[in-house]
Amino acid sequence: MTDPAAYAEGILAGDRAAIGRAITILESTRPADRETGRRLLRRLAPYGGGAHRIGVSGVPGAGKSTLIDTLGALLLERGHRVAVLAVDPSSERTGGSILGDATRMSRLAGAPGAYLRGSPSSGRLGGLGRATGAAVAVVEAAGYDVVLVETVGVGQSETAVAAVVDTFLLLGLVGAGDDLQGMKMGVLERADLVVINKADGDRQVAAAAAARQLTAALRLLPRGGDRTEPAVLTCSARDGSGVPELADRLAAAYRADRASGELTRRRRDQAVEAMWAHARAELLEDFHAELTMSPVPAELAADVVVGRLAEREAGDRLVETYVRTVRGRPG
Ligand code: GDP
Repeated sequence: MTDPAAYAEGILAGDRAAIGRAITILESTRPADRETGRRLLRRLAPYGGGAHRIGVSGVPGAGKSTLIDTLGALLLERGHRVAVLAVDPSSERTGGSILGDATRMSRLAGAPGAYLRGSPSSGRLGGLGRATGAAVAVVEAAGYDVVLVETVGVGQSETAVAAVVDTFLLLGLVGAGDDLQGMKMGVLERADLVVINKADGDRQVAAAAAARQLTAALRLLPRGGDRTEPAVLTCSARDGSGVPELADRLAAAYRADRASGELTRRRRDQAVEAMWAHARAELLEDFHAELTMSPVPAELAADVVVGRLAEREAGDRLVETYVRTVRGRPG
């Protein structure tokens, strides 16, 4: 099926199969799919924007899936409809990981009000799928009012997730030496909320102490614009303690950002940045595609390795070669 109208109808009716197929099309790089995807997004545009988009990031093992499952289940109880977009590096080969997510998030999987979707990270920086923004549009049109976007915290991913969410939640945990793991300053600067997970059993005291220290440290950190420093909470995704407070905080932050206009401002900035990011990605892809068909890169490389040509000069010639082929294209 390639009819965007039929997809849109299915999505608006909340049909899971239609949602899944639409996201697959939006992730596809085939020219026909891309055209279908564009038309579909145009149709869905009037129905988007209605969800609280929450990013959940943290190093592997921090408890992201467990927390999303616990928090998601609580949000369902509170009457929300919850979509989870998880970027799953392990699904690269299989092209889907619904099964993997079902086992990782057992409470949400199968719940009528929840939708889980794992997407391959496509080797992109940040582990965010190229179509995450588009997938958000799809689930919003389908009526989900909370979208949880999960990414693995590997440096760049925080930037990528911050570019598509309203609220960025960073998950940390107290490590062996009571130090906080995965809490780099650059990452903390982007967080709206820091959650120290696994505050249970004999880690409880250490987690509370870490939260106090972090709160003090964050006060000294410069923040962009008029944003306030992130709140630091502790919770246990496993036993659920602290999770209702986290849900309250998230809801309050969303309400406040909507009332103050911050939400609108952020989303506008994100839209403009997404435009540039897409254009950059397209251009880069085209650049590589064009040059793989040309003998010039190999010739230049041969000159570079024997020192006949400086690297930068060779790089300039690559660009010139690309520009010439683009100029010579029909149409
Ligand atoms: P992810 O890699 O960040 O998604 O982490 P997972 O959610 O898969 O959790 C990693 C491990 O930590 C699993 O064995 C979980 O059962 C465990 N875990 C997650 N949350 C908690 C928690 O709140 N307390 C404790 N004690 N263990 C947890």
